[in-house]
Amino acid sequence: MMYDDVFRRAVEQLHAEKRYRVFADLERRAGDFPRATWHAPEGPREVVVWCSNDYLGMGQHPDVLAALTETANRVGAGAGGTRNIAGTNHPLVLLENELADLHGKEAGLVFSSGYVSNEASISTIARLLPDCLILSDALNHASMIAGMRGAGCARKVFRHNDLSDLERLLKEAGRERAKLVAFESVYSMDGDVAPIGAICDLAEEYGAMTYLDEVHAVGMYGPRGAGIAERDGVMHRLDVIEGTLAKAFGVIGGYVAASRPIIDAIRSYAPGFIFTTAMPPAIAAAARASVAHLKASQSERERHQRQTMQTKLALAARGLPVMPSETHIVPVLVGCPEKAKAATDLLLAEHGVYIQPINYPTVPRGTERLRISPSPFHDDALIRELAQALDAVWAKLDLPRRVEVQAAE
Ligand SMILES: *Cc1c(COP(=O)(O)O)cnc(C)c1O
Repeated sequence: MMYDDVFRRAVEQLHAEKRYRVFADLERRAGDFPRATWHAPEGPREVVVWCSNDYLGMGQHPDVLAALTETANRVGAGAGGTRNIAGTNHPLVLLENELADLHGKEAGLVFSSGYVSNEASISTIARLLPDCLILSDALNHASMIAGMRGAGCARKVFRHNDLSDLERLLKEAGRERAKLVAFESVYSMDGDVAPIGAICDLAEEYGAMTYLDEVHAVGMYGPRGAGIAERDGVMHRLDVIEGTLAKAFGVIGGYVAASRPIIDAIRSYAPGFIFTTAMPPAIAAAARASVAHLKASQSERERHQRQTMQTKLALAARGLPVMPSETHIVPVLVGCPEKAKAATDLLLAEHGVYIQPINYPTVPRGTERLRISPSPFHDDALIRELAQALDAVWAKLDLPRRVEVQAAE
């Protein structure tokens, strides 16, 4: 067997479908966010990044960098092993306490990433519940789906944010059966928000456990940045809240917050937690500094919302097809993978604007888009330049100006 040929053909398939992914060679610059150096084939150039998930620019915050470097110099670079072997470095204990407090839960548990936290927690919870039925929102993230597959139990998908479809499935399962309702607060490709309180009402009525992914909301919503559930005053009603330290908190790592028995069970049974080296202490300290800062400070959240609104208005004023979004995500529809790629190539080469196209399978075919994420550091002048650049590219490529989504997937 010519093994290499198999892999070559698999990649050719992606080229044929125009969704082969290319990663730009970028270098972020601390203190100069959202500007970065693009290591272009012709040499380095300055660009403005418009699609970062470092939503608030906390990755360059002086408190975060100070905690990182001070702890690394004091404690060293690595954790020295799994927690079973090396124990828990004290900065990680403090981080988990900070996260439990953030979400008003008894305990928190940190993982290598948000992906791992979903995969490990959902699979472990659902495996421990006898004859568990998972009820999953149709647009749940790949990491949640990986956890459901790993659980090996029954799973039913309810239509995205559709309460009556969820109720139908809950009713069908009956009150007695163990049920886990798994969903997100902010869905990051469309920027829409789940009716968390109403989902909790149903879960209560039918005796289901709730698992909420707040990855795209922690740091950004609620009076202390605990997410949409905090903003809506329903945080205490959720059994498990999952988040990342890598997006608005600007560092790396994932976590769950829940009651002590739930956390103790995940800690004790999840292979994705047990058999991997713990988060480095300097990273834990940096993440804790970021969480602590955003608990107390409103200015980042306020300016973030303002600059997002300014961006939506500026693009709409130029007749660009901004898709409706209730949150900080500004999706602009292209509707074709080839054109989305051509548009982003032009933006980078001619305008120094870096935006990555979003293609299938991240979004349904026919809804390929540019996903723009303004931060508090994208000032009004940058927003004007972005609107001009997009307008020019839309004209040059003759792209559609109306939001007409035909995809049905
Ligand atoms: C990014 C993301 C994750 C994974 O978080 P990481 O920390 O990047 O691994 C989980 N859930 C959702 C909804 C995400 O968008």
